[in-house]
Amino acid sequence: MTTASQEVNEWIDGFLFVANRPILDFLNTKPVLTDGPTELLPDVRALERWLIASDMVTSPKAKAVVRGWRQSPEAAAFLDQLIAFRERLREAVVRIESGSSPTDAFLAEVNSLLLQHPRHTSLHKRDGMVVWETLFEPRKPTDLWAPIIDAAADLLAETESSRIRKCESCVVHFFDTSKKGSRRWCSMNICGNKLKVAAYQRRKRGD
Ligand SMILES: [Zn+2]
Repeated sequence: MTTASQEVNEWIDGFLFVANRPILDFLNTKPVLTDGPTELLPDVRALERWLIASDMVTSPKAKAVVRGWRQSPEAAAFLDQLIAFRERLREAVVRIESGSSPTDAFLAEVNSLLLQHPRHTSLHKRDGMVVWETLFEPRKPTDLWAPIIDAAADLLAETESSRIRKCESCVVHFFDTSKKGSRRWCSMNICGNKLKVAAYQRRKRGD
């Protein structure tokens, strides 16, 4: 966890983490860089790195299992499905950002995945308190649907949906957690400063 006073680590292992919601960070695995749209999840190895960087896969046991799938045709097939889902999720998010809601067809798809890949939870005692704990021990590549679809459903059911926004200057989506709800950019370092400098130069030139 980071606080406002800490330097936020925006890039982890080559992936952007500025969205405040892992599922939006997942959408942001296809940013537009200088050469145009870039697929940051081109293969299973990249997916493995993203799952670990995003903390979706955390236990040593789960990491070892996921690492074992580098040459797995099932994992490659899962990645194809996941990328296609990511783009349908992007459509749904764009609809939310424009004040609309996701299509019934998309909600039906999410519901079907929720049913097939339920989140496994249990109660534990920690410091005398009873807390929920998510058990995620993937055994096959499609088990990775569980944390992804759970996070997607969580976003779609977001009550403060007006805080789901796209950067004013690029394709990156984020969830605005600022107090005023006035965040405009994916990141000050990436787009904020660029725009501020551009505005300053325009003012200086007097146009
Ligand atoms: Zn941006």
